[in-house]
Amino acid sequence: MTSNRHWRYWFRCWRRLERFLLPPRCVYCGVATRIAERALCAPCRDDLPRNTASCRRCAAATPTGEVCAPCRERPPPWFRAVAPLRYEFPVNAALRALKFHRRLEVAPAFVPLMVAAYRRAELDCDAIVAVPLHANRHASRGFNQAQELARPIARALGLPILPGVSRARRTRPQSGLDANARRRNLEGAFRIGRRFDFAHALIVDDVMTTGATVRELATCLRRSGIARVSVLAAARRSAAVASGAADRRERVVQNNSQEDDEPNDVVFEEGPEAAVPVATARQP
Ligand SMILES: [Zn+2]
Ligand SMILES: [Zn+2]
Repeated sequence: MTSNRHWRYWFRCWRRLERFLLPPRCVYCGVATRIAERALCAPCRDDLPRNTASCRRCAAATPTGEVCAPCRERPPPWFRAVAPLRYEFPVNAALRALKFHRRLEVAPAFVPLMVAAYRRAELDCDAIVAVPLHANRHASRGFNQAQELARPIARALGLPILPGVSRARRTRPQSGLDANARRRNLEGAFRIGRRFDFAHALIVDDVMTTGATVRELATCLRRSGIARVSVLAAARRSAAVASGAADRRERVVQNNSQEDDEPNDVVFEEGPEAAVPVATARQP
């Protein structure tokens, strides 16, 4: 018992020393932040590209926040989609750093924004689902970026994360596929090993692009007994950006990358100024 108390004492001392030597830093500008700000300083937070006027069904930017034409013509299988940010610099660079360069310290910068956006939308979900990676990809990457976001969000909202949701198979890159082929490519992509009786599940992902992935996952979740599904993504990549009109820094290249599992028509390569946008936080 006594050694246990000693152990806890030394652990607390170590944590204090760690905070002193390695204070939290803003992932965008590298400035040391206050404890309450964590990974995102106030000026950077105010400068981020906000996704304010957006379609309430799919979170795509619309001029006055009205429901977009594609959602009116073909309503998605989910109830609402919320994304606090637009997938533009520096958000795109930070999310790519998280996903492809294992910069896990980036995730906490997005969590408070996502939690606030969820609360503003008044969705009242009772469970969380992180978009799963295929087991092979999860093993090679070592983590799932959607899970890195979903875990702290679930803690903040006091909601359980649904177990037993996985990718049944690897899907081909979606480049060059038309809408129907894209849907077929993802058909049966997810496996849900049990039935749930939750009223409203919240799918958490890093980026929402065409919505093909969440469309398939939402359909599976509803088949497994969940009455309603909504989507919370850190950032929304809009059609205007995908066509290259909104951000000339981004160069469209063919999606032949094995590491990118986003169901995108295009993959973006950041310009030189975007290559190292994320501060080297927690490095001496
Ligand atoms: Zn900053
Ligand atoms: Zn829409």
